[in-house]
Formats: sequence, structure tokens, C-alpha cells
Amino acid sequence: MTKENLEFKTEVKQLLDLMIHSLYSHKEIFLRELISNASDAIDKARYESLTNSSIMENEKDWKIKLTADKEAGTLTVSDNGIGMSKDEITKALGTIAHSGTKDFLAILQNREAKDNPELIGQFGVGFYSSFMVADRVTVISRKAGRDRKNGVKWESSGDGFFTVEDVEKENKGTDVILHLKDDEKKYLEEWEIRGIVSKYSDYIEHPVVMDVEREKESELKKGEKVKLKEEETLNSQKAIWLKDKSGISENEYNEFYRHVSHDFTDPAKVIHFKAEGTSEFSALIYIPSKMPHDIYYKDYEVGPRLYVKRVQIMDHCEQLIPVYLRFVKGVVDSSDLPLNISREMLQSDRQIDIINKNITKKVLDTLEDMKKNEYDRYLSFYKEFGRILKEGIHFDFSRKEKLADLILFESTKKSPGEYRTFQDYVENMPEDQGEIYYIIAASRDEAAGSPYIERFKEKGYEVLIMPDEVDDVIMNSLNEYKGKKIKSVVKGDIKLDKSETAEKEKAEKKFKELIELIKFQLKDELKDVRLSGRLKETACCLVAEEGGMDPHMEKLLQSMGQSIPENRKILELNPKHPLFEAMQAVFEKEPKSLMLEQYIKLLYDQALLLEGSKPKDPAAFAGAVTRLMVKEAQKA
Ligand code: ADP
Repeated sequence: MTKENLEFKTEVKQLLDLMIHSLYSHKEIFLRELISNASDAIDKARYESLTNSSIMENEKDWKIKLTADKEAGTLTVSDNGIGMSKDEITKALGTIAHSGTKDFLAILQNREAKDNPELIGQFGVGFYSSFMVADRVTVISRKAGRDRKNGVKWESSGDGFFTVEDVEKENKGTDVILHLKDDEKKYLEEWEIRGIVSKYSDYIEHPVVMDVEREKESELKKGEKVKLKEEETLNSQKAIWLKDKSGISENEYNEFYRHVSHDFTDPAKVIHFKAEGTSEFSALIYIPSKMPHDIYYKDYEVGPRLYVKRVQIMDHCEQLIPVYLRFVKGVVDSSDLPLNISREMLQSDRQIDIINKNITKKVLDTLEDMKKNEYDRYLSFYKEFGRILKEGIHFDFSRKEKLADLILFESTKKSPGEYRTFQDYVENMPEDQGEIYYIIAASRDEAAGSPYIERFKEKGYEVLIMPDEVDDVIMNSLNEYKGKKIKSVVKGDIKLDKSETAEKEKAEKKFKELIELIKFQLKDELKDVRLSGRLKETACCLVAEEGGMDPHMEKLLQSMGQSIPENRKILELNPKHPLFEAMQAVFEKEPKSLMLEQYIKLLYDQALLLEGSKPKDPAAFAGAVTRLMVKEAQKA
């Protein structure tokens, strides 16, 4: 039985260093973290015993035991859960840094981490918090299903190294032994331990027990007291989601939220309900107030916990919610599903489907209610999660109208930071306006200065400003709201004024040959050249066809290395701009003029710049502009 000396992974080392030297307040949460790990380990073992009984001892008495040894100065957290093999313990407690660890370190270093001890739980670095109170930690574990000779002992002083060696262990499960620092010995006191357990771990489903000494009347000699040790359960173990709503305080709800979500802030909303009838289940669902830090990671796990009759089946069941609600956390406990349900069965289970529909409805109803009655709270929710929520319009056809009513937009008629909904947009439309208009823009300022909305402004038509590239895809899916077509201002032909038709026809006649020339010169770049119905001050712009792709979306796809379908644009010219009179004059004098050829190139480059793209040959563009500047300056 050799003892191996191993080094922690760099990030773990940094983390330990911070735990030991920088975090000073709320150290007591270490116990919550260890109890939570122990409880998870029991859940796993219990689930194994249901699905794979051959390798499991016949355990009924699941529990987490706390042992304070004042003489040795140790506090031990023991569980009879799944345990760890040598390989697993080496990885879990040493060489694998969880995906969030790097981010966690960055935040700890940048922020007053001392004041945010809850961060520890959020980033899944729970075990290491032991080193806030202990100068040495020993973990002895035996994997369920292995024999007593297959135990493993892990030990570290948090100084960059740890050891692992084979040991014998009587029972399956894990003992975490904290050798408490001299000034942290208070965690050996019964009242202190009781206080922490009831504050943070009361709802843990398994009993958290401790041997307590009680003075009792001696049975042998009347009147004499004797000291007896008795095992006492410290937590109420009530599955909070099965309790009656009226008996649960906000604090209890929030504490449980922190347990299931690893988030340190309070949730924005709690949704707690029981369903009876075709499907019987209880759900305790939380809408977070802050974006989970890892939501954009590949290994982000979606979905509430799934229990069947109080037995935890899995940590995250993605089938319980639609993907566009992936920020939602919580617990679902079903009475109908079989205990040994497998992941494959979940895919096509009717009960799961019913639960999913129920939860989706409840969450969307809650959001609608929040929007109506607690607008500020809704706004801060929307700023965090709106981008994810609106994906539903594209993916969930049956609820797209409901979701459309939940979206907020900035608009050209509102001050920055004020929002519109489709509903108030439509209510405020001038009578002669038949369609809903939007523009995709990185910022409100970019939208406000865009040539594409010149005529809309002049007409007094509001344009909704959409901040995300995907909004274009989403609006295409939505297509219309309450019978009003939704249109991008950068796509298709825009005819705002019927009275202008005659004028336009006249201009078309007048510039016919010039337009032909432009078309011919740019035939490899463009689909068409035409007169514009959307410009007022600006000379020209590029637009996509009606069902085409927004330039922002094109760029996003390109930056992700995706090829996009060839999508030639239409160059629109503003016939009222003096430039075209001037070009027309040159054309009439000398149709093959080099100057005209140069101008046409510049026209196209400008239009590219205005849509947010780059001229094909930026150096040639700059050269042409400077030549014009020199000419102008020489005239002055
Ligand atoms: P987290 O619990 O967030 O994953 P920890 O650092 O607390 O992070 O634990 C790391 C891993 O160590 C756990 O994911 C688990 O695999 C293992 N582990 C910790 N405590 C126990 C335990 N009591 N029994 C079994 N495995 C455990």
C-alpha cells in the first residue's frame, strides 16, 4: 500500500490559496457544502440501488453523521453514500478543476470576495471551503459495491499537494475529517453545529445526525443522574416542495434555491404548485434573477431535478422544460413515473410531456403577470434572460404569440432605457401605418443614426430597435403580430406613400440610363439597382430582398465560420439627392466618363459602409476619397 504524493491542478491551488488567505466571513458555510455533497452521494447510491441492485448492499438506513471530537480537534462528516474509488477521488479532489473554477477565481480576485462568501457554492468548489476552517483535511472513502480492502485515504494541508493511499474501510461511503484550526474550534460545539444545520441544511432529505450527550435519570438509582449519548437528528428533513405553501417562509424558499441552483443571489420568482388529475406531481420552480455564470458553456446542464415519490432520479432533467426556459431551476417530484425510469424512457414519456407543458405554462403566466404587475422586476429579469426567452418564438410555434407579448424593445420613439411591447406599438400606430417596422442595431445610437430609418422618422412611424442578430430570424418566424406584418427596414421594397408613385415613376424615367449604367458596372456585386422609398438625406443604401438575411446575421454566421448562401443585395438610390442630378449631367455629356465610373464605385463602397460592412478594397476607397478632398481643397 503505497502512498502517492500528488500536486493539485494550478487552478485548484489558486483556489485553495484564496480560501485559506482571503475569505474571512461566513466561514460556517463549509458545513453546508459538505452536507450537500454527502446528500448528493446518498442520492446517487440510492438511485443505483434501485436500478442496479446487484452491486449494492441492501441499505435502508441512509444518513449523514456529524462527529465532533474535542480531544482530537476534529469534525467529521460521514455519509453512507456512493463513495469514491482511488481514481475518482484523485480526480474529484485534486486534478480536475470544475469548468467554472477559472471564472470563479477571476471574480474572487476582482471583487470584494470577502463580502460574497456565497460565491463559493455557486461555482461548485464546495469541498475546498473546508480549508477555511481546517489546516488539514482527511477524506476516507469506499465506493459502494467494493469490499472493505478497497478503501482510499486522501489527505492535504491545502499547501499545493495531497496524498492518496489504499486503506481498509468498514462501510461504504465517505468520511470527511476536518482538523480544525486553533481559532476555529467553535465548530466542535453542539449548539454551533445545530445552528448551522438548521440554518442551511434543514430541508436536506436525509437525516443529518449527531451523537449528543444528555443527562438522564438513572434507571438503577433513583434521583441520580447519568450521562448518556444518543443519536439525534438535527434537520427536519421536510422535502420543501411537498410542504404546504403557507408554511414556507421566503427565507426557506431562498435557501433551498441556493441549494439547487448553486446561485448566491435570491431568485426573482418562486413558482410552487401541485398538479392533480391526469398527472400527479409537485413542482418548485425558480426564475433566477441573475444569469447563471455557466449558461453558455457546453456542459451547462438544463432542467430541474427530477424526483419520483421523494427519491431523486437525476440532478437535471432537460425533458421537463423547453430549451428556451433553460435558465429555470428547481425540483419536480412525480407520483406517476416508475422509480427505475431510464434516460431513454424519459425522451418519450407522456407524463414527462404533460409536466413539461404544465411548467411552461406556469412560467410564462408568471412572467406575464410580473410584466403587468411588477414591471421593474420584469425589466431586470428581461435584461438578463430576454435573449434566451425569445428563442421560443422560433422554436415553439404553439406559443409564439404568448412569447411575443413578453418581449421588450427599445424604439425610435422612446428615450433610451424605455421599452415598448408589440402591444403598445400597435396601439400607438398612426392610422395610415399598416405594418410593424424594426431594425437590428448593435446600439440605440447606431439605430437612431441609420439612413434606413430616415423616411420612417419623417412619416412619424416608430421603428423597433432589436439588439441581437438572432432577432432577425425570430422576427421572420413570428412574421406578424395581431394581423400586422412585421418588416425589417433593411429588407424589401418600402412604399410609405402611395402619393409618391407618380413622382417616382418620373424619376425612374429620368435616371433610366444612368441606373442601367450603374447596374452594368456593378453586375457582379449586386442583384439590382432601383430608386428608394426609404431614404431622405442619404444618397444610397444596400438592402436585402424581402425574405433575405440581415447583414448583422450574415456577419455573425461568417464569424462563426459558417458559409452563408450567396445573397446579392439591391442598391437603392435616393432620387432626391443632388448627387444624382450631378451624375446625370456628367452622364449626358460623357457616358463613358472615368469620373462616373469612379463615382459608381464610391457609391457602392459608401453603401457597404452604411450597412456596417467594409468596402472590398479599403485602400482604393481611401485613395479615391482623398483625391476628391484634394480637388475640393484646391478649389477653395
Ligand atoms: P461539487 O459538489 O460542486 O461538484 P465539490 O468540490 O464539493 O464540488 O466536490 C467535487 C466532487 O467530489 C463532487 O462532484 C463529487 O464527485 C466528489 N465528492 C465530494 N464529496 C463527496 C462525498 N461525500 N461522496 C462522494 N463523492 C464526493
